[in-house]
Formats: sequence, structure tokens, C-alpha cells
Amino acid sequence: MANDRFGRLIHYLRISLTDHCNLRCVYCMPEDMTFRPNADLMQDDEILLFVKLFTELGFDKFRLTGGEPTVRANIVELVHGIAHTPGVESLSMTTNGVLLGKIAQPLKDAGLQRVNVSLDTLDPVRFNRLTRWGKLEQVLEGIHAAESAGLTPIKINVVVVRGYNDMDVAEMARLTYENNWQVRFIEMMPFAGQTSFQKQQIVRDEEILERISKELQVPNIQNHGILDGEARIYRLPDAIGSLGFISSVTLPFCASCTRARLTSDGKLRLCLLKEKEVDLLTPLRAGASMEDLRTLILDGVWQKPWGHDLAKGDVALNRTMSQIGG
Ligand code: SAM
Ligand code: SF4
Repeated sequence: MANDRFGRLIHYLRISLTDHCNLRCVYCMPEDMTFRPNADLMQDDEILLFVKLFTELGFDKFRLTGGEPTVRANIVELVHGIAHTPGVESLSMTTNGVLLGKIAQPLKDAGLQRVNVSLDTLDPVRFNRLTRWGKLEQVLEGIHAAESAGLTPIKINVVVVRGYNDMDVAEMARLTYENNWQVRFIEMMPFAGQTSFQKQQIVRDEEILERISKELQVPNIQNHGILDGEARIYRLPDAIGSLGFISSVTLPFCASCTRARLTSDGKLRLCLLKEKEVDLLTPLRAGASMEDLRTLILDGVWQKPWGHDLAKGDVALNRTMSQIGG
């Protein structure tokens, strides 16, 4: 079992399969983003070996992310390999949905259980502006393909950016009346490269809730008093789906954090919002034994930072969100 020095049991690993992406969301990366050469990224056999090692240390919940995980060559075979590793109980993916129309069913057949799809607005022009070149209809098609394939419950990730999609939050919430989706509003977090934009354009939860409440004429949106991972859950009256609020900046959930991340270049990142990382890929390629790697992981987890210091203005500047794996 992997415990940190604060007594938290860490058993959830988010693996970034690539830093490459087929979109360029304004809150995530600059338009002229440069990506790592493929040789610097973990290869399929290296990812599978790490998954095996992590399961041996008690990790049972895995999420595949990026960059955009679906642009990775052999994604379906890789998902199959991870899903069939003994000890992997839960396997999900966070994706922009662009390619799901084609591969949702193969991914489900390979063993993927659920998807979170990022979709910030239902307005095609604003969608294109936010993603710099995305086509809304591809993502909608992807979400429906995921639902038909049974990659459920579907969660929709909405990052709210002032001036880009803050006017759309009620429309996004309205989706829950007819769809059994969890529409999750995520507070924009600051990272390298985009820090001043992210700090200036952030929209806080209270403002989002107030706007939904006013525009949908629901005076008191019911807080279910429950958490789903990091999301606080609400429900509109008679809605079949739910709303989630993820407020890492204003309401951190560090005390209940159970996660670590493996970046696409094989670094174990202990906190999304802290620079501390442990290199696993270089030792693996240099011939480290499985025992050495296990020790590196356990020592790294033990040193997991308690939480972030965004309130003090302390921002992790060594990577963009896409290079960490959100
Ligand atoms: N490409 C996939 C996608 O967009 O879903 C997976 C990777 S993306 C980095 C993971 C999640 O991080 C997405 O839901 C995205 O909206 C979110 N994200 C990206 N930059 C962010 C930021 N600065 N603050 C908060 N969330 C962010
Ligand atoms: Fe790509 Fe996801 Fe970042 Fe958008 S949020 S640029 S889709 S990695």
C-alpha cells in the first residue's frame, strides 16, 4: 500500500498517454505549443510495466488522460492491455471527444469503463474560439457514441473562462434536464505559460451558480451534500443528470486526495499544482530493477505535498496542464 506522510492512502493514478493534442484550448496551452518527440514519451510496454508496478503497490483506480489520449497510436490495444492488468478495478478516460465518434465502441470493447468529455459551450463559434480550431459537432457526436457504447455515466467537464463561455453556463446546466450526465464546472487553474490569462479570466463557483439559478429560474439549486471525487454535487429540480463543481482554487480538496499522476514522459507527479516529481522512466531505461522502481514510487508518494498554495500566489511553473495530465 502506498501511504503518504499525512496518512492519506494513495491508490488512484492518472496516466498521461501523450502531451500531444488535436486542439489548442486557450486555458490549457499556447497556440504555438511544441510537443515532445515520441521517443521521449513512455512506450506501450513501459506504460504496461508501470501499471503492473502500481497495482502491486495497491493502486486500483486508473484514468487515462493527456494531452489528448485518443491521438495516441494503438490507443485501443493499450487500453486493452491496461484494463486486463490484474488489480485494475476502475479504468476511465478524460478526452476532448473529437475522435470518440470513431473509437468509443472499440474502447469499450477493450475494457474502458467510463469517459469524461471536455465541452465548454454549445455555441459552435465560441467552441471554435475556445479550442482555437475545434468543431462542436464532432464532440457532440463523440459524446453520443460514448453513451451508446455504454461508457457511462458520462461526465462533461466545463472550464469556465470569462468572456469566452461564462455566458453559456446555464445552457450547459440545462443539459442535465434531458441527459443523465454529470455536468461539472471546473475553476480554471494557473499553470506555466498561461498564468496571467488564467488568473484574470477565472470565474468563481458562486458566480456560476448564481447565473444558472437566475437564468433557469431555480431560486435554490439543491446541494446534495455529497462529493463525487473532487466534485460537489448539485441537482436541478426534476433533472435526470447532476451538476458538479470542482473548485480547486477556492475550495481545495487536498485532505481527501488519493491521487498521483504519471506524466507522458514518465515522471511521477505527486500533486497537480506542485512542481515536485520523481523520474521513473529514466531509471527504467537505465536498467533499474522492479524493486528499485517500487522503492522510488513509495518514497515519492511518502513525500507527496499536503496541498497547493495558490492562495499565496504559489503557481507550479514547470509544465502546462497538457504536459501534466489533467
Ligand atoms: N485532452 C483531454 C481533455 O481536454 O479532456 C484530456 C486532457 S485535459 C488537460 C484534462 C482536463 O483539464 C480537461 O477537462 C480540461 O478542460 C482541463 N483543463 C485544462 N486546462 C485547465 C486549466 N488551466 N484549469 C482547469 N482545468 C483545465
Ligand atoms: Fe488539448 Fe485537452 Fe488541453 Fe484542450 S484541454 S488543449 S483538448 S489537452
